[in-house]
Amino acid sequence: MKQDLLQLYRKELRLLEEKSNRRNLPEIIHQGRMVIRQDKQMLNLSSNDYLGLASDLFLRKAFLENLTPENFLPTSSSSRLLTGNFTANKELEELLCLLFKSESSLVFNSGYHMNIGILPAVSDSKTLILADKLVHASLIDGIRLSTAKFSRYKHNDYEQLESLLCKNHTDYERIIIVTESIFSMDGDEADLCKLVALKKLYPNVMLYLDEAHAIGVRGAKGLGCAEEQDCMTEIDFLTGTFGKALASVGGYIVCKKVIRDYLVNKMRTLIFTTALPPVNLMWTHFVLERSTGLTGKREYLKKISSCLREQLIAKGYVCPSTSQIIPVMIGDSRETVRKAEEMQRKGFYMLPVRPPTVPENTSRIRISLTAAIRIEEIENMITLL
Ligand SMILES: *Cc1c(COP(=O)(O)O)cnc(C)c1O
Repeated sequence: MKQDLLQLYRKELRLLEEKSNRRNLPEIIHQGRMVIRQDKQMLNLSSNDYLGLASDLFLRKAFLENLTPENFLPTSSSSRLLTGNFTANKELEELLCLLFKSESSLVFNSGYHMNIGILPAVSDSKTLILADKLVHASLIDGIRLSTAKFSRYKHNDYEQLESLLCKNHTDYERIIIVTESIFSMDGDEADLCKLVALKKLYPNVMLYLDEAHAIGVRGAKGLGCAEEQDCMTEIDFLTGTFGKALASVGGYIVCKKVIRDYLVNKMRTLIFTTALPPVNLMWTHFVLERSTGLTGKREYLKKISSCLREQLIAKGYVCPSTSQIIPVMIGDSRETVRKAEEMQRKGFYMLPVRPPTVPENTSRIRISLTAAIRIEEIENMITLL
């Protein structure tokens, strides 16, 4: 009997294998901007370390100078609602409020915790969630865990969104529009001003924005696309992660105080988990404070990103991206895997993205650029592609 049960898993894995969709955990060693696998050194073109801060030794050394055995706290030992709410939490949330000029903010263990926790907490069966078709898996999971009704609109199709709002606003107590600012697979972006205008059409519509790929990267202070498009205060749930450009771990929301208070009471992924270790929160604080001034890195990243996008288009690729996330669209999974492996042999660590992460027949190699990458390296890579 036991044997039979395992057989089902083996069969499913074999099916994935046949479609070139089977995944494995890569065994790699990190060396600054490079990764090493089986003695082969490759330039890391798959990292979310957009500002290059995770590989910045000087930053880590500066942080370590302020650490002592007394203030190096590697665990919080408890939920924030019990004894896990340390000063480091308060200080990080105060910094977020100061930077975003917001009433309130709240920090979570990860962006995934944030997205699967907030949506079920703030919605009920009288809520309709309208999500962009391409939102991240964590947002989909959050919607699924909620009791809200939901519907997805075609990617960035605001006409369809408007008609959905028009059709449904009288049938629900509340409608929440859910989108990312920079989308994680196509690297294109939402028009936030347009979304804010749509939200304002009806008094019972709220806007949830995930800035995972934009925090640190966009805006004069690196606060994201909402800063860049000057609409930070218009977004009801302004969220992001510290795990990408900010070189740390954790998620955050910037919001009205009443929403924070509500989440503290209702959000299961905040209440029923051990809080982040204070040392992580201190590191996030340290990096976030410094990241606001890194305009030069943001401009450089913008420059190399548009350079790569232009060269891909010149080579005949379709390129939906407007950001540092740049897909090389191929289509077929097998061909995508083959091409990614070929580029790895040539010294460029880039990875295939296949269904179910992206729709069928849209397999692609996903490149994400960081400020640690040199322009010559991009040119070199493009000629080999
Ligand atoms: C990475 C990502 C998350 C998850 O954030 P983590 O901090 O890595 O858990 C959430 N939303 C989007 C859009 C992401 O790209």
